[in-house]
Amino acid sequence: MKLYNTLSRKVEEFIPYNEEEVTMYTCGPTVYHYAHIGNLRTYIFEDVLEKSLNYVGYNVKRCMNITDVGHLTSDSDTGEDKMLKGAKREHKSVLEIADYYTECFKNDLEKLNIKWPHVVSKATDNIDMYIEMITKLLDEGYAYINGGNVYFDTTKLEDYYKLTNHKVDDMVVGVRAGVEEDDSKKNQADFVLWFTKSKFDDQELKWDSPWGYGYPGWHIECSGISIKNLGEHLDIHCGGVDNIFPHHTNEIAQSEAFLGHKWCSYWCHGEHLNDETGKMSKSNGEFLTISLLEEKGYSPLDYRFMCLNTSYRKVLVFTFDALDQAKNTFSKLKNKIKTIKNNIDDNIDTVKFEEYKNKFSEALGNDLNIPVALSVLYDVLKDDDMSNSTKIELVKDFDNVLSLDLLTEENQTINEELKKYIEDMILKRQEAKKNKDFALADQIRNELEQKGILLKDTREGTTYELM
Ligand code: AMP
Ligand code: ZN
Repeated sequence: MKLYNTLSRKVEEFIPYNEEEVTMYTCGPTVYHYAHIGNLRTYIFEDVLEKSLNYVGYNVKRCMNITDVGHLTSDSDTGEDKMLKGAKREHKSVLEIADYYTECFKNDLEKLNIKWPHVVSKATDNIDMYIEMITKLLDEGYAYINGGNVYFDTTKLEDYYKLTNHKVDDMVVGVRAGVEEDDSKKNQADFVLWFTKSKFDDQELKWDSPWGYGYPGWHIECSGISIKNLGEHLDIHCGGVDNIFPHHTNEIAQSEAFLGHKWCSYWCHGEHLNDETGKMSKSNGEFLTISLLEEKGYSPLDYRFMCLNTSYRKVLVFTFDALDQAKNTFSKLKNKIKTIKNNIDDNIDTVKFEEYKNKFSEALGNDLNIPVALSVLYDVLKDDDMSNSTKIELVKDFDNVLSLDLLTEENQTINEELKKYIEDMILKRQEAKKNKDFALADQIRNELEQKGILLKDTREGTTYELM
């Protein structure tokens, strides 16, 4: 399996620290609002990565955090706590907000067939671990206390910027525009490990610590939860590209300073989903959610299919036209599979099965090339030298990674709109036959079949049924 590693800026052969179990950490949601479909693109990518590792034979243990404290509106420790902001917006407590949006997030993942990680841990459940880490970082001179907060001293590391290969001055413009400097920091890049003083003192959740009553910084949460659950040597750490700096850069700094050795070998980042105006964000009020797509008549798997058609390392621009196209192609694909499924025999061609399985694995192993893996699926469906049963077995096998419910039949119901469409098509076909345009007549029959509608010519006229 080859993966692009942000740390080396190369596609590398994946070699786990321990062959028995691959450890994988994925940054979880900050549960102050619904996930937007951009966030969910990252979780789809991570799901496919985990399932691809399983497919090629690895046993994976995956852990994810739920951020319910400490993530400020600017990723660089300034602004308001996002959770507090959510609670104020809805006149509820932070814990109520956290529980509600965690449940919504879980539902979104379920709808998208994203597997819930083996370990999911709330930031607020691991305060002891952060205190243990920060104590050691202070003892060993990697951290300092100033103005009531504990900061990590980034100058104590030889290569604080190794994940980005850029100095902070090249990157801060977007991150810090309009944000006032924190005078208590010794260096611009230093970050908070523990807050007792911040610009807002009305934080609801605070804990006792050796440095005063306060709360953890966002970055220490992921390091703490990962080390606690997955050990000192992490194989893969994922997130969206916006996490590379400062979040993952800071995770590496504090984890390696704490452990005294290299921590994570492979850093895999998913590119963003943008809308036509640029980056998707929750700050401007209205944003796209899975429920909103459902209200507009799309299934969550239409969106998953859309995401799978673009490499995780390419920006994907969301438009409803693109989603319509994905929905259409996905529906044709499912109907094609349905037709094959309705005509199976008992003949499994093991040679062909292995041949296609290898091609599929190869695509996954090539830095998770899902668009190519999908083209292998199409090749399977149109291979005339293979039995239908073999095809269906391959579809079932590939769907362990794709998770598109390729063999599940939706109960299509005929609503007024669909009825009118079918009747119009039947009239068009009759017209074509009258004009001896049999090619067009066949084309109409095929088009309907692709949509799961079977025409039957009877003496009384043409009728139809759902396949
Ligand atoms: P958050 O809930 O803001 O902590 O973000 C959850 C995940 O979504 C993180 O891994 C982010 O990197 C990722 N993310 C944020 N915005 C986008 C986007 N527009 N497209 C894809 N992933 C995103
Ligand atoms: Zn994280």
